Amino acid sequence: MPDTKPSEFELIRRYFTRPVAHTDLAVGDDAALMTPRPGMQLAVSTDMLVAGTHFFADTAPGDLGWKAAAVNISDMAAMGAEPRWMFLALSLPAVDEAWVAAFAEGFAACCARFGVDWAGGDTTRGPLNLCPTVIGEVPVAAAIRRDGARAGDDIWVSGTPGLAALGLRHLRDGLPLAEEARAQCLRSLHRPQPRVELGLALRGVASAMQDVSDGLLGDLGHILSRSRLAAVVEDAALPWSPVLAACSDEPAARAALTAGGDDYELVFTAAPELREQVASIGQRIELPLTRIGQCQSGEGLRLLARDGTLQPVGRAGYDHFG
Ligand code: ADP
Ligand code: MG
Repeated sequence: MPDTKPSEFELIRRYFTRPVAHTDLAVGDDAALMTPRPGMQLAVSTDMLVAGTHFFADTAPGDLGWKAAAVNISDMAAMGAEPRWMFLALSLPAVDEAWVAAFAEGFAACCARFGVDWAGGDTTRGPLNLCPTVIGEVPVAAAIRRDGARAGDDIWVSGTPGLAALGLRHLRDGLPLAEEARAQCLRSLHRPQPRVELGLALRGVASAMQDVSDGLLGDLGHILSRSRLAAVVEDAALPWSPVLAACSDEPAARAALTAGGDDYELVFTAAPELREQVASIGQRIELPLTRIGQCQSGEGLRLLARDGTLQPVGRAGYDHFG
């Protein structure tokens, strides 16, 4: 494809070349050069977004750019790592310059918001497909992994998950939402805010952590299986956002809270002795942190219903959006 190369260079020059703050050599050479700070380990993660699978092809390009960066930065938050560098491999159908400009603006805005240098990537023709890679730093051995939870640890969740999933139901199935609720849900869906500050604050506090990208209970299940533990989550303790509580479709709201992805909140475990410390972190960063259950020895996740019965949570319990 000899005639595609010049326009790729032009796109890279115009839209994908951004000022950097802590990169030795960024866009323009065969590779980027970065120097990790002393005592730091690198945390590296890739999260691909495919049109039709992870987003609607007609999503506003600025939102899509933001989200592509945000979901990757969220993986750094979930490790307690500081996001530092971003690379973007993408394939694009026939180039629509206005689309690329708006997309790159959203992507760069999210990187800038979280102090991340957009340091390189790759650009080709093809079906719309976005594949960012984020690199972060974390002090050696301080990363918060999925396998560190212990029996007796509390289970916590940040924020009020579920809004993004309701927004998706609204767009996909016409689920009715009041005007203000609609705006909040679509904002959660399109402009998620990765919990980087919380992730950093939980170093040395959380025993295990993961971001909620596929649904609260399902993602908690990953921590449990990696840590080889069971858990009980209390239904009455789940953080219902006022938006969810006001939703006319109660089952949809409940499914969004327990099984909806895309909010990029953090679910984590911490020893019960650290309750006050966790609560004070939430106050300091002005983010509600809710204790929703406890880890136990054994296997499997159960929900303590409001009538006092214990109900096993199978995959069907959290896979509505799968
Ligand atoms: P090469 O031929 O060596 O693979 P490319 O033409 O793919 O080089 O890329 C040239 C430069 O542009 C590289 O520094 C690369 O990191 C950067 N680049 C290409 N695509 C992107 C993109 N989508 N975002 C950021 N930088 C990019
Ligand atoms: Mg290349």
